[in-house]
Amino acid sequence: MVKNKIYNQPVILPELEMHEVSISMKREDLIHPFISGNKYRKLKYNIYQAIEQKNKSLLTFGGAYSNHISAVAFAGNEYGFNTIGIIRGDELGNDLSSTLEQNNTLKLAAQHKMQFKFVSRSDYRLKHTADFILQLKKEFGDFYLIPEGGTNSLAIKGCEEILKPVDKEFDFICCSIGTGGTISGLINSAKANQKILGFPALKGDFLQKEIEKYTIQNKNWSLIKDYHFGGFGKINEDLIHFMNAFKEETTISLDPIYTSKMMYGIVDMIKKGLFKKGTKILAIHTGGLQGILGMNKRLRQKKLPLIQ
Ligand SMILES: *Cc1c(COP(=O)(O)O)cnc(C)c1O
Repeated sequence: MVKNKIYNQPVILPELEMHEVSISMKREDLIHPFISGNKYRKLKYNIYQAIEQKNKSLLTFGGAYSNHISAVAFAGNEYGFNTIGIIRGDELGNDLSSTLEQNNTLKLAAQHKMQFKFVSRSDYRLKHTADFILQLKKEFGDFYLIPEGGTNSLAIKGCEEILKPVDKEFDFICCSIGTGGTISGLINSAKANQKILGFPALKGDFLQKEIEKYTIQNKNWSLIKDYHFGGFGKINEDLIHFMNAFKEETTISLDPIYTSKMMYGIVDMIKKGLFKKGTKILAIHTGGLQGILGMNKRLRQKKLPLIQ
């Protein structure tokens, strides 16, 4: 599944030199154009498991712009599975061809043979109930179930492979958070002297407990909750300008939902002097660049500046 080699890219920004703090980005976004970053890590052992169990179909859940939906469609297709995406928003199913025309994530997923079922927001909330799953089995036959966002214990096992022996030189490991799966893998695999900082891309207090559930010994982590920009998928001009300037200066594209908020947070904390001189930070680029097209469509409608 991996198409490209992953490396740590030094990030050169004037603010960093001034505060004598260094950042490298682990370019997990380069893993694959559509199965990028942590979604590849999270799917790897789930796919092995589905093969072992002789499942023919993978079924999962997501919003209409979900990086996870895109990754399951591509990876499933590559391994010869049927894929079924249960998508939030029944209105999207009213006119499928117009939905696909307007939504790049779903269009590409459909081109990779994902089959969709669009459900209302209230039904979507019931997705983990036994009744709902039973209903889905009646409709689609047997399947291997991957939860929304892809996080389960096999996903965390995959995310434990992000850090490599050479990464022991870093003092801080930073990552963006949706469900908490990726940071859990990082926490489990980090060295005792390293501190892991997670930047939630959404509001909500469930994450602390969720991460505690998946991690055991290492308590050397904390959540930085000041950079969600109003919630999941929310974005403002300040963040767009930051992303565009970051790309201009470093050549690295950030995604609008996750990695942009993390990098904004790291740079802001450095400017505030929260890291001492000589600190070495590794920021994980978890991917998600497929989401830029969809976000730009929304930004254009709102007459906001676009992501370059
Ligand atoms: C899904 C995703 C995340 C969040 O990962 P979790 O394991 O759900 O916390 C972070 N970054 C990108 C680009 C993602 O697509």
